[in-house]
Amino acid sequence: MEEYVVKIISSEYLTHDVKRLKVEKPDGYTFISGQATEVSINKPGWTEEKRPFTFTSLNKWRDLEFTIKCYREHNSVTKEIEKLQPGDELIIRDVWGAITYQGKGVFIAGGAGITPFISILRQLDEDKELEGNKLIFSNKTSRDIILKDEFERMLRDNFYNVLTREKVIGYNDRRIDEDLLKQMVKNFGQHFYICGPEDFVKNINDIVVSLGAKTESVVIEK
Ligand SMILES: Cc1cc2nc3c(=O)[nH]c(=O)nc-3n(C[C@H](O)[C@H](O)[C@H](O)COP(=O)(O)OP(=O)(O)OC[C@H]3O[C@@H](n4cnc5c(N)ncnc54)[C@H](O)[C@@H]3O)c2cc1C
Repeated sequence: MEEYVVKIISSEYLTHDVKRLKVEKPDGYTFISGQATEVSINKPGWTEEKRPFTFTSLNKWRDLEFTIKCYREHNSVTKEIEKLQPGDELIIRDVWGAITYQGKGVFIAGGAGITPFISILRQLDEDKELEGNKLIFSNKTSRDIILKDEFERMLRDNFYNVLTREKVIGYNDRRIDEDLLKQMVKNFGQHFYICGPEDFVKNINDIVVSLGAKTESVVIEK
């Protein structure tokens, strides 16, 4: 497998525990929106600690972008990533991933599971193809919502926020369940894109299929 050492150009917080990293893009390196790569930190002791992260940039951008939720509570790669500064280096590898755009539909994300949809929705926006797509984004609290302003601008009325641990006027304060999906989605004959924690993906997949979605129209990371 090819490995590329890439310099971090910038690192900034998008939420209290999510960082946006801009990194150099190797010559000839290409990906499809929704795809990911194995990333490690180019520092002694960390180079073999590989973790998957999704490109949130567009393929045509000059640099690569990652959007990374940092877990501080244990000694992990993301805890180290949080400390990285411009000039530090990552190692990236081949691109892979099953979540790519297949046609208009409903995107359902839990927390950092939004990352493949960031690139896909940005690409659709750029291509003026966003109409007819919808995003349902579930987070614990309003301070966990990644890129809220950008999604509002891109999707307007087709952007729904669901908060599982906070009551805020204008938000759905509940988990995504069958009733909520019936309320928000009228047509189950379209594509469904689901990404988030394993239980979240399984649960929502089961619900949309039970409500009439075809298994082959549900796009998830296998
Ligand atoms: C295809 C793919 C693409 C992904 N893309 C992204 C992305 O773009 N952005 C992003 O933020 N994430 C993404 N992820 C998830 C990301 O890979 C993980 O969050 C990351 O690997 C965590 O690495 P870590 O070393 O920090 O945690 P690890 O130590 O590897 O822990 C992994 C998970 O276990 C839990 N965990 C482990 N030990 C403990 C502990 N002691 N206490 C509490 N929790 C614990 C953590 O919640 C963590 O989510 C992606 C995953 C996949 C499969």
